[in-house]
Amino acid sequence: MVRLNEIRDGEVAVEPPEATDAGLVFIGRISTPWTSRLECPRQGRQDGPLCTIEVFEPWVAALDGISKYETLEVLYWLHESRRDLVRQSPANDRTVRGTFALRTPVRPNPIGTSIARLVSVEGNILTVQGLDCLDGTPLLDIKPDRSIFVPIALPQSGDFDTA
Ligand code: SAM
Repeated sequence: MVRLNEIRDGEVAVEPPEATDAGLVFIGRISTPWTSRLECPRQGRQDGPLCTIEVFEPWVAALDGISKYETLEVLYWLHESRRDLVRQSPANDRTVRGTFALRTPVRPNPIGTSIARLVSVEGNILTVQGLDCLDGTPLLDIKPDRSIFVPIALPQSGDFDTA
């Protein structure tokens, strides 16, 4: 069961504090086949439809070196989400869980992340598989998939700290 912006039985909304400016910049735009939240996948899959990520200037130079990674972590702003629920009922069955125990798009800061398979890079356009967001979703960041990224900088002392 998919929600648009309704509150379900048992869910709890709060009066959120006024938004402060974290200084986020939308660095691009994601194009996907999905024009309604009711059609999007719950989570992207790496054999899913081809999607494109357009990176805006002045950030295009920041793509240098990205093609060596097979998978990328893509962060995006789930711009149609409400942001005030602390307990939610994903199945709309009166069973609720805390927002931070879910990967719901409805969160105080509606940041979505997916591990996407990089298919191609042509100029400022990345073609990927593995996204689950609406067509037109604003792009926040792209990073190499942490599970394959090896730090390039020299180790520093904290790297060796353990409990
Ligand atoms: N993979 C991301 C994650 O785990 O952080 C997002 C998962 S979230 C469950 C995916 C759902 O968010 C989609 O099924 C759709 O209902 C909703 N969604 C997608 N794009 C959105 C957008 N731009 N604004 C609000 N909701 C969106």
